[in-house]
Amino acid sequence: MDSRQVKRLARECGFELAGVARAEELGEDYRRYQSWVENGRAGEMRYLTDRRAEVRRDPRNLLEDARSVICVGKLYHQTSAEPSVISQYAWGRDYHEVVREGLEALAKKLAEIEPHRFKICVDTAPLLERSYAREAGLGWIGKNTCLINEPMGSWFFLGEIVTTLEMAIDAPPPDRCGSCTRCIDACPTQALVPVGEAWTLDARRCISYLTIELRGNIPEELRAQLGENVFGCDICQDVCPWNARAPVTQDPAVATAYDISTPLEDLAKLSAEEFRETFRHTPVTRANYAGFLRNVAVAMGSNGSGRFAEPLEKLAAHPDELVAGHARWALDRLRKNAENMLEEECR
Ligand code: SF4
Ligand code: SF4
Repeated sequence: MDSRQVKRLARECGFELAGVARAEELGEDYRRYQSWVENGRAGEMRYLTDRRAEVRRDPRNLLEDARSVICVGKLYHQTSAEPSVISQYAWGRDYHEVVREGLEALAKKLAEIEPHRFKICVDTAPLLERSYAREAGLGWIGKNTCLINEPMGSWFFLGEIVTTLEMAIDAPPPDRCGSCTRCIDACPTQALVPVGEAWTLDARRCISYLTIELRGNIPEELRAQLGENVFGCDICQDVCPWNARAPVTQDPAVATAYDISTPLEDLAKLSAEEFRETFRHTPVTRANYAGFLRNVAVAMGSNGSGRFAEPLEKLAAHPDELVAGHARWALDRLRKNAENMLEEECR
């Protein structure tokens, strides 16, 4: 199979980036991943630490006789005049669906040229997807742990087709982070940590993990640093110079699906049904209703403004202790904030 044809077809299927890596073990990347897991940096994300961790060692564990990994990137970058407390990747329809649809269309087109067996992977499949994307020439893995493409930045969803098709492979591009440390300096929770000469993510400190993946209490010592990030965090991508000229997607498949600028006070008022209705088919539902309200309470407490006292009082009376407990913490922050301001005025 001609890999140029594969890339042309990938573009037709809605992917701005496409490349090919060999379906083989990436020893060094896998060892780094293993040590990341062993050091507890995956937090409670069991899908990264259970028996699926071993499957990640080699794409041929997903498909025997696999020869190639076709890696694609789908741009989701959008701009908004108003700030949003929700991470950009979750503004539109669930990317699992969007990327899977595109990959299914691509796999079908390839099968029309040459029959193949394949396995489609989108994010949750046990594959070191950023490593294979790098090997496929899509970009380098930055210190913020995102895949960065030199002309197009890092606002991409990644997906893969592990296939029995044989084709020419691409070369990984050079790492262009250089001496830059903007993402490390900007991270509010110091979640990007050094390992030898490289950097890794301690998910247990990352706002994306804390607001999306973590089911229970957010560690109290980190809550104030969460800012107004209710679902995910874009800070280490926002500050990256390679995103300064990132193109904006024109694809309606990833268009904004709800009012992304809804203020915290209004998010706090959402009933369970309104939450489901507003965020239906978007990644936000992953936080589940109580987790979402927990995050809204923490965002209000982190902000510290007295205008949040009323919605927080209501959340503090919520029947779910997860919500009520975080709202009490936030109210306490508001109280202390008001006392400090009073003290300063009296000085
Ligand atoms: Fe830090 Fe936010 Fe990036 Fe996580 S997503 S590493 S919290 S800046
Ligand atoms: Fe690399 Fe700088 Fe971007 Fe961080 S902000 S990923 S160090 S280029």
